[in-house]
Amino acid sequence: MRRSPDGWFTITEMAAQTFALTESLGQVDRFGPVLTHSYLLLGNAQAALVDASHGIGDLRGAVATITRLPVKVLLTHYHFDHIGCAHQFDSVAISELEAHLVSGQQTPEMQAATARVAERCRQPLPPNFSFDRYAIGPVALTGRLHDGDLIDLGGRVLQVVHTPGHSPGSVCFWDAGAGLMFGGDTFNRGLITMSLELCDIEAYQSSLDRLISALPAATASLLPAHYATPVGTDTLAGLAAGIAQVRAGSATVVDAGLWRQADFDWFSVALPALVAPSSGAAADH
Ligand SMILES: [Zn+2]
Repeated sequence: MRRSPDGWFTITEMAAQTFALTESLGQVDRFGPVLTHSYLLLGNAQAALVDASHGIGDLRGAVATITRLPVKVLLTHYHFDHIGCAHQFDSVAISELEAHLVSGQQTPEMQAATARVAERCRQPLPPNFSFDRYAIGPVALTGRLHDGDLIDLGGRVLQVVHTPGHSPGSVCFWDAGAGLMFGGDTFNRGLITMSLELCDIEAYQSSLDRLISALPAATASLLPAHYATPVGTDTLAGLAAGIAQVRAGSATVVDAGLWRQADFDWFSVALPALVAPSSGAAADH
């Protein structure tokens, strides 16, 4: 593990030709450090960068210490903490279902979430960065992603898997050759957010079921955007069981302030507050 030139990201080799670029705002919750990971995947001809962090550090500069290949940014979904540095790159794609959510102004909910980053951040900031000028987007898209698309990096192919639920156009990227699934916010061992305005818990359960039936459990690693990484494929069945309990009304749901929450051993599910809070108050990631 080493630091990016601006000190903001840690860079960790996760597998052959596969790197995590990790940032922390300095927060810790009951699952551990609240980390945010982008992943750089190197092929022979080009590189893919899965997600683009909060927009605080110099992600392009960090990537440049790893590769000189042309970089294609692949966004798992439209949320502020996944697209923040996308503007630093020339090639950026997102689901066709969410292009309109990043190519203009952020939604009021995402603007409110972005506005809370400064108060959440307890880390020393990179040189030349100030929250006074902090803003996210719009993102100049060069591509749209669809379920089943194959992205050929040269000797390494990623498949787009549409997994709606956390957001309508959430996608995972499956690297069958390496047995790696890059999941954005579709899975993690921490907070599973179902509290935002475009979350759909029924669709989410279907997406988990789809991933469980599609993945070769013995050989795959899951690489989420938050908390510990990688996590085992048993994560999916655990999440599916918890979500089923929440949907059946058999989970204990408590008020967590900005949202309601069902707590399980190694994850919690954030659900919408009963009375809609003022815009955007229910999102941290
Ligand atoms: Zn998200």
